[in-house]
Amino acid sequence: MTQTPVFRSVAVATPLADRCAADPRLRMRRDGELRGASVVYWMQRSQRARDNAALDFAIETADALGLPVHVFFAPVPFFPRANLRAYDFLFRGVPDLAREVRARGASFVFRVFPDHDLAAFAREVQAALVVGDENPLRETEAWRQEAARRLAVPFVTVDADVVVPTACFPKQEFAARTLRPKHRALLDTFLAAPTTPRRARVAAKAPPPSLDPDAAAVPEAWRIDRSVPPVRSVPSGPVAARAALDAFLAERLTGYAETRNRPDLDACSRLSAYLHFGHLGPAEVARAVRAADAPQADREAFLEELLVRRELAINFAARNPDYDRLQGCPAWALRTLDAHRRDPRPFLYDAATLRDARTHDPLWNAAQREMTRSGRMHGYCRMYWAKKLLEWTPSPEAAFEIATDLNDARQLDGRDPNGYAGIAWAIGGLHDRPWFERPVFGAVRYMNAAGAARKFDVDAYVRRVDALPQP
Ligand code: FAD
Repeated sequence: MTQTPVFRSVAVATPLADRCAADPRLRMRRDGELRGASVVYWMQRSQRARDNAALDFAIETADALGLPVHVFFAPVPFFPRANLRAYDFLFRGVPDLAREVRARGASFVFRVFPDHDLAAFAREVQAALVVGDENPLRETEAWRQEAARRLAVPFVTVDADVVVPTACFPKQEFAARTLRPKHRALLDTFLAAPTTPRRARVAAKAPPPSLDPDAAAVPEAWRIDRSVPPVRSVPSGPVAARAALDAFLAERLTGYAETRNRPDLDACSRLSAYLHFGHLGPAEVARAVRAADAPQADREAFLEELLVRRELAINFAARNPDYDRLQGCPAWALRTLDAHRRDPRPFLYDAATLRDARTHDPLWNAAQREMTRSGRMHGYCRMYWAKKLLEWTPSPEAAFEIATDLNDARQLDGRDPNGYAGIAWAIGGLHDRPWFERPVFGAVRYMNAAGAARKFDVDAYVRRVDALPQP
């Protein structure tokens, strides 16, 4: 039987390997002696200075060693499936990020590709330790493994973008109902786990950046996909993220249990892009929602999404190497989809028709336009949108590919475990159960426009989308 790691509070003076063994948030990537002139935090996914267990760990360790902390932030133009829309959002968040990091007493070193070499930077500042954050996606995990090979100093990563660490669930969870009780049993331990909002004790003299953080903009020279325009109407960065959280708590948390499936009202939190870019940590959001003056049913409905569904998606991406392909879906769903492979499709659309929202279905077209214009699609529509791709494309494989391509290119929160799990749920029955057999879908759950019309005012949703500004 696999043992669930138990969290123990261990003194900073304890050897690094023992600290990592005692705390499932920490992963020792490279051990060694802590000898040098600074501690480096290689910030990647957790783009914030508050509620960031990786930054806290770097500061605590640096304080114990009497060393300064350098936060090394080094965007590269080859983040998998990222394009101008995603990079623009990332760069617009940098000025506030830099200010907040410096307020913690660390330096913020903004070294943009081609000046992004972590191992070279660690040598430059004589790092005694490099700390990283975690991202379970294939390529980003490979970058961390490569860093462990190339660095000559100890390297520890911290699972800072979940509440209950991914390591606590060593196998792929079958469904929300299998994760929920285990998650609930550990939740209070990690929500209560101390964070250290204090400043680093030793002042850091900032090494030169390659770009002024206050003038951060996607470099013209970067060879990236520029076909999807930025969405400037959505403000970026940790300050904007906290304002979005405050607005949700004040205006929309009350009623969330009822309104979250109403795309016409658009009453959800709209926090997913901030969570994706790490401008907000999930623990800060969860604590704020727990403490909010809103009915318990609304707080619980929201925490189910933020904690159980989101961390179920992260478990899927971390434990299933095929998380972004149809093969990653459960065997029962693959069998039933295969049995219906040759069923006639009621409509067949190519990728360009779908991209340009030119199908026969006003609801689907509106959902696609919402994503193209605003960089987000309402959660209910995402389910409907992906189910229709299964129905209107030649094969489940094609549906999966078109869904991931469109979702990752157009949603500000794309390229995320939530997206891959959501698509696998809609097309491949992930975290779901078999339903009644029907054409094309087999036993995979079906959705149709009549069901949507029973839940919300479809015409009002279409009107809301049509009023959105063009990006
Ligand atoms: P709220 O309803 O306010 O929920 C709060 C937070 O809980 C969200 O920000 C998100 O982090 C989490 N959450 C909510 N619903 C889910 C869910 N079903 N699964 C996992 N976490 C959830 N989410 C993304 O972050 N990125 C994606 O690319 C993405 N693509 C999706 C594609 C499909 C086909 C489907 C069915 C779902 C997808 N989701 C994705 C999940 C979900 O639809 C969005 O997280 C949610 O709509 C974001 O809006 P919100 O922040 O207002 O959500």
